[in-house]
Amino acid sequence: MKIFTTKKSLAGHLEPFRRDGKKIGFVPTMGALHQGHLSLLARGQQLSDEVVCSIFVNPTQFNDPKDLEKYPRPIAADIEKLEQAGCDVLFSPEVNEMYAGNEQWHLDIGEPEQLLEGKFRPGHYQGVTQVVYKLFDIVKPDLAFFGQKDYQQFLVIQKMVELLHLPVELVMCPILRQTDGLAMSSRNIHLSAADRQHALVLSKTLNWLKQKFDPGKIASLRRQCEAMISAEPGVRLEYFEIADGDNLHNADRHTKKIVALVAAQVGNTRLIDNVIISD
Ligand code: AMP
Repeated sequence: MKIFTTKKSLAGHLEPFRRDGKKIGFVPTMGALHQGHLSLLARGQQLSDEVVCSIFVNPTQFNDPKDLEKYPRPIAADIEKLEQAGCDVLFSPEVNEMYAGNEQWHLDIGEPEQLLEGKFRPGHYQGVTQVVYKLFDIVKPDLAFFGQKDYQQFLVIQKMVELLHLPVELVMCPILRQTDGLAMSSRNIHLSAADRQHALVLSKTLNWLKQKFDPGKIASLRRQCEAMISAEPGVRLEYFEIADGDNLHNADRHTKKIVALVAAQVGNTRLIDNVIISD
């Protein structure tokens, strides 16, 4: 695996691939890699000729400085995982390679920015679009792979691609879970053994909803899900929504594409999860 830490050296490496008409796939991550990240890489390897994975803990998308500080950065273990998975290229720049001084950025993404996560993490998606735009500009991928795990993030990036006419195809990859249902996340390492057990309520509730789903009972099902999660010790629910998968408006009996999304604090760790109920 080739490792680059500067934009120039990465661009130099990719240029001949682009010239020869090869497909460049891109998997952006913040590191602390798990099987979920590696499943994106595997999809990238199926669909592209050269796959670039990036590891960059992007400061501008953290609204809580403590969260940024404690974000795990096990770079040696990550490199090992990527090597073993046969990744072609790792791009792992320092912050000053990506940002020059006090840069300004604002992209009017409209609703997908303000709903759900947007309410609880103001400014988060401005930071996400800022860094993904920069990364796309450096890598110039044909295909970029993102997880359904961050469902709203996918919609936001899709909107940015549309607004700015970026020549990249986005691919959404399914959520990878532990055998007990917990969605894999770099943040799971912060969960104590007890938190880890309590956190299962999120995937259990989403599963329960998927089994019981009835388009005529959305409001009462949503309330039941909220109650199930709120009853779990150590878990503080932020939101549970049953939404239109295209625009995240509240779903009703006529909505075709439905997704249920949840966010909660479990101990001191904020977790998100979702399930696609109908597509
Ligand atoms: P992150 O490093 O958390 O920024 O995530 C990088 C990419 O991996 C994003 O596109 C995430 O949606 C995706 N991802 C995170 N967790 C999972 C998971 N459990 N299954 C599949 N993809 C995931």
